[in-house]
Amino acid sequence: MIPGLSVFEREGIRQRLRTESYDLLVIGGGITGAGIALDAASRGLKTALVEKNDFAFGTSSRSTKLIHGGLRYLKQLEFGLVKEVGSERAVVHRLAPHLVVPEKMLLPLSEKKGMGYWLTSIGLRIYDYLAGVRREDQRMMLTRQQTLKYEPLLKKDDVNGGAIYAEYRTDDARLSIEIIKCAFQHGAHVINYLKVHEFLYENNRISGVQVTDQLTNESFTIEAKVVVSAAGPWVDELREINRSKTLKRLHLTKGVHIVVPHEKLPVRQAIYFDVEDGRMIFAIPRGRTTYIGTTDTNYSGSIDHVVATRQDAEYLIQGVNAMFPTVSLSVNDIESSWAGLRPLIHEEGKSASELSRKDEIFESPSGLISIAGGKLTGYRKMAERVVNLVVKKYFPDSTLTRCHTDKIKLPGSGFLSNREVKQYISEVTESLNSLNLSEHKARYLVGNYGRQTHEILDDMRRSHDVSPAALGLLKAELHFCVHHEMVATLCDFFIRRTGLLYFDIQQVNKWKAELARECQRLLNWDEERVRKELSDLDAVVANATAFR
Ligand code: FAD
Repeated sequence: MIPGLSVFEREGIRQRLRTESYDLLVIGGGITGAGIALDAASRGLKTALVEKNDFAFGTSSRSTKLIHGGLRYLKQLEFGLVKEVGSERAVVHRLAPHLVVPEKMLLPLSEKKGMGYWLTSIGLRIYDYLAGVRREDQRMMLTRQQTLKYEPLLKKDDVNGGAIYAEYRTDDARLSIEIIKCAFQHGAHVINYLKVHEFLYENNRISGVQVTDQLTNESFTIEAKVVVSAAGPWVDELREINRSKTLKRLHLTKGVHIVVPHEKLPVRQAIYFDVEDGRMIFAIPRGRTTYIGTTDTNYSGSIDHVVATRQDAEYLIQGVNAMFPTVSLSVNDIESSWAGLRPLIHEEGKSASELSRKDEIFESPSGLISIAGGKLTGYRKMAERVVNLVVKKYFPDSTLTRCHTDKIKLPGSGFLSNREVKQYISEVTESLNSLNLSEHKARYLVGNYGRQTHEILDDMRRSHDVSPAALGLLKAELHFCVHHEMVATLCDFFIRRTGLLYFDIQQVNKWKAELARECQRLLNWDEERVRKELSDLDAVVANATAFR
């Protein structure tokens, strides 16, 4: 049996990183690094992945959480991008049907804003064609009356029709982590909290990296024939260390999302609408909340500490209030938020929103391969391009297999159809009924962990814990994440494994002390560590609503 990606494996993995030599070392445990590690390991390359913070700490836990074709890229005439990411949606859905879930998007149309009825109708037809959308999921144009029936909260005198089209929703951090677990199962040595701060060279060619463990402060070197930087917004920082930041450079733009209780913005389904400045924003119902985003502004602050400001929040609130005049949202309604950076490629004279979302690969004279740009949705194709380049250039005579990540199901994904996912949710709901936990929890568990949910429920039954059921369940999730997902801190658990910081912040405040004690028991923390973990968590909770 393949061992889980347990935090207790860290020492063993560190030992191997120190002593073994790798074909490929990937820097960055976001979706891009995760995809590259899985692609490389599954083709037979000896692969390592190091992440300086927690897996998915960067942009890959702060996106709009859609696996989408990027309708707006059609407006920018980026047909190639729409075709690639559009077709990838169905592939990624097949690899993890519980985690990449079909979501119909409502697009209200107005005479005053946006592309108008007929252009949108043609645009969506092209979108469906490029993305190869199945007939039953293709766009449906709506009359004004039908649109208002779909969403009665819309500003009535602004709407002259609408459209429904197909997208997929996901959880970006969980998707990244499942891919990393899958890479580990295929033999990659993966580890979080290991920061690359220097490169090793032999005859002016990169031959490895120097790293420092952020949890223990120890430094050591890792040897690798090829080093790929998938460091997202930090790509230029590493190119500077490699003295290769020439010609093209990154252009970081900030995107903010805010979260309000669903009853404050009770949209019936996901909706994508125009705002005054010509941009478009999403409002997406999720569990007991609705989240709204995003902004797109140039960014030059600290990359390690990106937060939403009051101005960001007000922009989104204004957009919502103009479209849904009866809801009267205010900044005080915001329960949580997140802010991420798009690592885009700079193009002279273009504004934040005009910059292309296409990925690009840079190769430095000493052999550092960096990849930036792109989308969550296109991670598999980006990985394929990088690994193809690595194989062609550095392992031309090898008998490595071709890319086959389109056939590798992610952990917990033993479902053949959406119907099977729904059936499993019903089974989990039944199990939870006896514990007085709702169907809502079953949906959450299956959406997060897929068929791995049974391990969490078995743990809960075995532990005979006398805590309230909600806490007992959280502890069982924690056990699973410590033993299978390398959770090392309270923030890892509450932000990137469960998403509770964003979508159920009350649960974080309610149970943080008990969960810190459970971590202490599991991970042998002393009192000082418990205090530090709680204070780190309090700081991110405060940041999520700092602008109120
Ligand atoms: P990151 O996720 O940032 O990962 C880079 C990692 O490298 C980080 O975890 C970092 O800690 C690590 N790292 C950096 N330096 C070092 C070092 N020295 N040593 C070790 N590790 C290091 N795409 C979609 O498809 N759908 C969407 O709905 C969507 N919405 C978006 C909304 C917003 C607001 C933003 C900002 C982006 C959105 N995107 C979306 C784009 C998508 O999120 C990004 O393209 C993607 O997450 C980038 O992933 P990455 O792995 O390249 O970078």
